[in-house]
Parts: sequence; C-alpha cells; structure tokens
Amino acid sequence: MTAATTPADAIAGPAHPVLRLEAVRKSFEGTVVLRDVDLEVAPHTVTALIGSSGSGKSTLLRCAGLLEEIDDGAILLDGTEITDPRADQDAVRRRIGVVFQAYNLFPHMTVLQNITLAPRRVHAVPRAEAEERACALLERLGLADRAGEYPDRLSGGQQQRVAIARALAVRPRLLLLDEITAALDPELVGEVLDVVRGLKDEGMTMVLATHEMGFARDVADQVCFLDGGVVVERGTPARVLGEPGHERTRRFLSRLV
Ligand code: ADP
Ligand code: MG
Repeated sequence: MTAATTPADAIAGPAHPVLRLEAVRKSFEGTVVLRDVDLEVAPHTVTALIGSSGSGKSTLLRCAGLLEEIDDGAILLDGTEITDPRADQDAVRRRIGVVFQAYNLFPHMTVLQNITLAPRRVHAVPRAEAEERACALLERLGLADRAGEYPDRLSGGQQQRVAIARALAVRPRLLLLDEITAALDPELVGEVLDVVRGLKDEGMTMVLATHEMGFARDVADQVCFLDGGVVVERGTPARVLGEPGHERTRRFLSRLV
C-alpha cells in the first residue's frame, strides 16, 4: 500500500485536501461542542488534535467519520461534500477508517475473521482474497502468527494493532484514530505508535487525537490545539508545541509536564 499517488489523488488532483471542515458546528442538548471549526488535511499528512479532556477532539473525529451529524457547516472528502444530505453516507463511511481508544474487536471472532468481516460483507471481496489481504496486513503489523487467535488471548497492544489492521482492510482513504494508546499499559504504547509511524511512511492520511505530545511532535505534520470546541491554534509541531502563540495553549502544555 505505497500511496505516493493513489487513484483518488489522480481524480481529485493534488490541490484538494483529503479532508476539509468548513465552519463545522456541533452541539449536544444545547451545549456547543464544536464552534466554527475549520480544518484542512492534505494528502499523505498526519494531523494531531490536542487539547484537554472535553475540548471536542472525539466529537471532531466522529463528525469527520460521519458517526455524528453536524448542526452547521460542511465536511468535504476529496473535495466532495459528504455532509450534504444527498451524499451516500454509507459509501463515504466505507472510505474512512476509524479506530477508537477501546479496541472494540468482536470477541467471538478470530483475528482473521475480525479483519475480513467488512471487506467480505460490505465490499463483497471474495473470501480467499480478503484472507490473503488480511494476512498481508497482519504480517506488516507484526501479527502474522496471531490470525487464528481470539482477541482475549492477545495483549492490549496486539488487540489495538488488530483494530488498526481491521480499519485498513477496506483500504480507506483516510484514517481517524481517537486516542488509540490511552487504554494501554505504558510498555505497550510504543508498538502501537510504531505502527502509526509506519503508516505515515507509507503515505496514509491520518487525523489523530492524542495525549502523547512527544509522538505528536515526532509524527504530525500539523498540530491543532482545541479548547472549548474552538481550534485555538494550529501549525507545525515545532511551532504549536515549541512556541505556542496563545496563552491557552501555553497553559495546556505547561500542565502536562
Ligand atoms: P475530548 O475527546 O476532547 O475529550 P469530546 O469530543 O469527547 O472531547 O467531548 C466534548 C464535549 O462534548 C464534552 O463536554 C462532552 O461531555 C460532550 N459530549 C460528547 N459526546 C456527547 C454526547 N453524545 N452527548 C452529550 N454530550 C456529549
Ligand atoms: Mg476523546
């Protein structure tokens, strides 16, 4: 899956961001959670969302993955408005991979069955081909010998890597990762972050919410700091994390040390 130029690039042209949020608003029961959020994610880049708990990171990712409906604004994937009521939302969801903090693997299915389920059921990929692809993914993620295991026989880090493999199995255009290491024991965090680094090297476009500032600095092309549902500042990791321009960003970063 080297993705220097993918078919979608050829169609959309390099000028289109993979993902674009325009003045996105979202509230829950009258409480505004995202307030006129603008975001642009260029092909083959990693965007890290940082901010305190409750700042709106998960909601932003859930809106981008069409798991939540927005109240106002627009979200575009490869230049096409996916929040348009006329858009085929199921088709869009199939182009976006999402991984959450809790691995959410199906416990009664083996690793191989977990990974081949969506390609077979949703994308009608023949079983042999789906399994071949799943095995290639497992190999890449260092889990080649785990295909026949059930999730509860795996460590948290292994389960999370299977969850990433499952998200990749449908060959998504965009991967959304919501604090995927937050539930892991510290010694297992590295193996999952290494997988994300590898995906970046292969050209996968990703947006991730994270509390791992060292990782954000290392892997992100763009860091967005959210506070109270507002993107307070964005820029390169060196800028936002190293020389934050806003008092609120400085306060957030100083609380972490
Ligand atoms: P973060 O991921 O940065 O911790 P969230 O996006 O989870 O932030 O939450 C942002 C705000 O939205 C919080 O105040 C949270 O309580 C609220 N919120 C999130 N999801 C829901 C929901 N389904 N119903 C009501 N309020 C919600
Ligand atoms: Mg969250």
